[in-house]
Amino acid sequence: MSDRLSSAEAALAYQRQWFADLHGAVADGAPFALVNADTPHEILRTMGIPYVVNQWWASIVTAKGRTQDYLGLLRERGYPDHSEQYSSIALGSLFDPDPGSAPWGGLPRPSLVLAETTGDASRKVFDVWDEEPGTTFYPLESAARDDVPPRWWELMPRRWEEAVGSDRLDLMVEELVGLIRFLEATTGREFLETRFREVMALANEQQEWNRRTRDLIARARPCPLSVTDSIPGVMVPQWHRGTTWARDAARAFHDEVAARVAEGTGVCPDERYRLMWVGRGLWFDLDFYRRFQRTHGAVFVWSMYLAIAADGYLRYGGDPLRALAARFAAFSDQLYTPPWSAEWYVKEARHHGVDGVVHLVSDDARGGYFTTRALRAAGIPVLELRADNVDARSADKDALTRTVGDWLDNEVAPRT
Ligand code: SF4
Repeated sequence: MSDRLSSAEAALAYQRQWFADLHGAVADGAPFALVNADTPHEILRTMGIPYVVNQWWASIVTAKGRTQDYLGLLRERGYPDHSEQYSSIALGSLFDPDPGSAPWGGLPRPSLVLAETTGDASRKVFDVWDEEPGTTFYPLESAARDDVPPRWWELMPRRWEEAVGSDRLDLMVEELVGLIRFLEATTGREFLETRFREVMALANEQQEWNRRTRDLIARARPCPLSVTDSIPGVMVPQWHRGTTWARDAARAFHDEVAARVAEGTGVCPDERYRLMWVGRGLWFDLDFYRRFQRTHGAVFVWSMYLAIAADGYLRYGGDPLRALAARFAAFSDQLYTPPWSAEWYVKEARHHGVDGVVHLVSDDARGGYFTTRALRAAGIPVLELRADNVDARSADKDALTRTVGDWLDNEVAPRT
């Protein structure tokens, strides 16, 4: 069996070509945006404004071994290099004295930076972007509500007004109207509602394919693919959300996984334990995810990337701009705010029948304690790994490997 899914290979090849073309477009004067993952990209898609996702760029830089260079460039300018590294690497790359040597030819200088103000430190990172000549930071509020809907994943596709709350939606719709006005005024590009409706419909179709894929993997024994394939298979199309290419790529990914499930193909010949990875991708050590297949027959069957695509994005009905606001107004709650997040991780752990959870907890932990507590209360062994997902200084690879191996031997094995 060829190890890698061809749909994941195809997605990566597409992204490479797209990124190369982006350089040409920006050189010709096109506007360009750097956006956080949890922001309404659909506005930019509708207006034909190219964008790169801040965290995707950080993952590429880290996988290519350049993170410490860029953190060093931040440090030289007096900025912290030990806080919000995932969000600040792109800023560091802006100061690269030799941008041509950067991964993929380097990140073009953005005219717009779009991010939700999820915390004081990340707000500051984007304020620094705003000081750069030619770059504007458009901040989106991070709102909260007191009462939390149980089983939000059942409400979100159609009952999103109830799930997210009208006040939060009112606020975000206002902000999106402001963003559209700002973009129309600064780029001369138009926001057309008919085009926007198409983008929203394609995005929903794409996430429906992801939902089917997630459900296939949850039921499949043995696990048909590795997490390092499912991440590009779902995330590269996610960053092209709202295009026919992305919708078709999500379908191709699904069909390939379905074929493997039908053939009974497993990624680990001797699958004994099914594991869940809670947290961001460990970009500085991607081989980590397969190491325990070889030594313990332990397969990571779950990461948040496919699962949040399946449960977090679908929005039907209502005014399309309000539906888009509903996609993002509570996005970080879904992943990081208990009880929203904690209940969802437990649901997904049960759905996938996992034998244990490895939970990456960084210094900027978002709800780490409550997630671990909820999973343990559900009877699932949890290992908290302390490391930053992009900064290899935070953890020694060998120590991480030993810690996980000991946990598998001492906690997971006796319970299965
Ligand atoms: S899969 Fe990993 S190594 Fe390959 S291009 Fe993407 S980030 Fe780089």
